[in-house]
Amino acid sequence: MTDALTPDLIRRAPKVALHDHLDGGLRPATILELAEAAGHQLPAADPEALGTWFFEAADSGTLARYLETFDHTIAVMQSADALRRVAREWVLDQAADGVVYAEARWAPEQHQRAGLTLEAAVEAVRDGLAEGVAEAATQGQSIIAAQLVTAMRQSDRWLEIARLATAYRHDSVCGFDIAGPEIGFPPDRHPEAYEWLRAHNMRYTLHAGEAEGLGSIQAAIGRCGAYRLGHGVRILDDVRREGDGWILGDLAALVRDTQIPLEVCPSSNLQTGIAASYAEHPFGDLYDLGFNVTVSCDNRLMSRTTLTREFSELAAAFGYDLDDLETFTVNAADAAFLGFEEKQELIAEVFDGFAALRES
Ligand SMILES: [Zn+2]
Repeated sequence: MTDALTPDLIRRAPKVALHDHLDGGLRPATILELAEAAGHQLPAADPEALGTWFFEAADSGTLARYLETFDHTIAVMQSADALRRVAREWVLDQAADGVVYAEARWAPEQHQRAGLTLEAAVEAVRDGLAEGVAEAATQGQSIIAAQLVTAMRQSDRWLEIARLATAYRHDSVCGFDIAGPEIGFPPDRHPEAYEWLRAHNMRYTLHAGEAEGLGSIQAAIGRCGAYRLGHGVRILDDVRREGDGWILGDLAALVRDTQIPLEVCPSSNLQTGIAASYAEHPFGDLYDLGFNVTVSCDNRLMSRTTLTREFSELAAAFGYDLDDLETFTVNAADAAFLGFEEKQELIAEVFDGFAALRES
């Protein structure tokens, strides 16, 4: 069956994107146009050269250098119109790749340089997502899109952003996240943000176990109560091989046994130095060990990737077939920050879509 897994077949499969940054998924041509309007200087002057610049600059081997590329995308996303356009195109690009459910994560606090309020920024993205969904529908592509409101871990606005998330919870915001440099900024730095979210019954995912290891994951799960982990792949630091078997430490066992969803982003991890190749990526072991793995792109611009490409690379590296890709997608659908009934519908759509592909 692996032979039949062409990129075209994978593109037609219904896919779920849980971990995809709004400011990491811009079209290079859009960045150029927005930069001109904003008077922002870019490192390249045409779309192809700019796309290459982002990929190469992000390919430096550390999370800190990788994050520097966002200075440019964030600089051109400072007006409501720019945010709305980027959100609209973000949805259209996902839909064109066969994504049927997508959560756009981004940090409103980084978009206030020209005077936008947090609320106006969230509403601009809300409107852009809705426009993208409506436009995709006219092209026969059905997609659900929501936003995940992110607080930057190096700033101290977590509670304010958590309150923003709950204020818009019935108006396009499906959850909360923290992102940014992991080392030196543990996820439990501002526990009051989680107290607020939990008091308001709001779900959240946390970036943890990417640049930093088990301490970060322990804090995200044990102290912060994260519902999902952004990346989380360093949980394998708590697993060791012994003879033919594996021994799981207590933290790895908890994450696996309670099936905490891991938002795994293979290409992004290769760029920040977690593994040297897809075949060496922890994904294969995590799946074999029974962890609840999902697949996402993280930043399609910086990694020059799509979910179709991530699936293609994983299938090539580990010999996965359509059943495996369906498992990763159902895992993701089940971990979506959706209501129960919508989630059941999404899961049914995934099963139906994969069944149709098998018959094609
Ligand atoms: Zn991320």
